[in-house]
Amino acid sequence: MTLAERLPGHPFIAYKNGTLHVEAAALPELAREHGTPLFIYSKQWMLEALAAYQRGFEGRDALICYAIKANSALGVLRIFAEAGCGFDIVSGGELARVLAAGADPAKVIFSGVGKTKHEMRQALAAGIACFNVESEAEIDVLNAVALDEGRQAAISVRINPNVDPKTHPYISTGLKGNKFGIAHDRALAIYRHAASLKGLRVVGIDCHIGSQITEAAPYLEALERVLDLVEAIEKAGIALHHLDFGGGLGIDYNGDTPPAADALWRRLLERLDARGFGQRRLVVEPGRSLVGNAGVCVTEVLYTKPGEAKNFCIVDAAMNDLPRPAMYQAFHRIVPVTPRRGEAVSYDVVGPVCESGDWLGRDRALDVKAGDLLAVLSAGAYSMAMASNYNTRGRAAELLVSGDRVTLIRRRESIEDQLRSEQFEG
Ligand SMILES: *Cc1c(COP(=O)(O)O)cnc(C)c1O
Repeated sequence: MTLAERLPGHPFIAYKNGTLHVEAAALPELAREHGTPLFIYSKQWMLEALAAYQRGFEGRDALICYAIKANSALGVLRIFAEAGCGFDIVSGGELARVLAAGADPAKVIFSGVGKTKHEMRQALAAGIACFNVESEAEIDVLNAVALDEGRQAAISVRINPNVDPKTHPYISTGLKGNKFGIAHDRALAIYRHAASLKGLRVVGIDCHIGSQITEAAPYLEALERVLDLVEAIEKAGIALHHLDFGGGLGIDYNGDTPPAADALWRRLLERLDARGFGQRRLVVEPGRSLVGNAGVCVTEVLYTKPGEAKNFCIVDAAMNDLPRPAMYQAFHRIVPVTPRRGEAVSYDVVGPVCESGDWLGRDRALDVKAGDLLAVLSAGAYSMAMASNYNTRGRAAELLVSGDRVTLIRRRESIEDQLRSEQFEG
């Protein structure tokens, strides 16, 4: 396989004249100017990923709510707000972010199992479209908060369809043993209860079965189960204005072949049409599939360290910047920014953090020397958004590239930024 074939972001992330580019920007120049580790995102790639969903929903009443936990940089949110997207948020902090990025609150939905009363008040005041509620207890608390505020909260109940999304256990959410959603067989009783509460207005139903899903089958299975419930709930006299099928569509990390968003939705819409729900308002909550392959993280090789059992390639990015390998043993392709022509050696690519779990890739064939740049691919989702200050490492800078225009959308976090919020005793 040639290097070019291993690049899932092609043509927006590609080699030109032997050097890796994001759109028209050469990565060595960006690294020289902004330092490493450095996240670089292709705007065109994000827009193209969004366009696949838009094509899939052509002629339908659909709202695409970008799940911002995947990548919540304001500069990224602005792209989706300008493209007309709504947003799926999971905290009051995320609400503040989408509003700061110019989101229309009427297109914001609020998911998550642990909303606080304060967050509920914040979202009611902002006038969001819908709370996706996840438990009976939350329904009663939201009702009380809404009555107290003299408002009505629009709600959708998140159903746990008990479908196996065939993904990593930490990112599967629609099985019985998960903390998410309300069991299928409790749903009708809960809808009846919610519909009787004065502080709530039932508007929809939702499900989200997991993340990095690479097949259509789990979606089709969940869809049938949700529609069975919709029929039962509406027969009980409770109208559901919208149907929300969550996010979760996977991306190509390592030769994965998820369906394209438009192809997936053609299949799902066939079933919706067949069961008479094709003209209902549809909501989706994609995160990873809109941003994941649009981003790379550029890192510098600090040292190569030959060992008895293994060779280590020690780079300046670490688990605090790219937590997915340490958290879920996730795979990211790692490629040289300017490939050499020598012989490749097998390395474990590791960061400077003092944990054996601090690795970015294992057994990678690389021809590298100290000072070389590597690009960790598919780093647009659940990377910077999960970054931490572990080992008092400042969080990386983020660049957005559109054609030959480069924007620093987040400056590198300084040590002053980190120390500012702390104080001594007394
Ligand atoms: C995380 C999440 C999403 C987005 O998942 P992706 O796999 O990134 O598409 C959507 N909805 C809910 C409720 C989530 O928790």
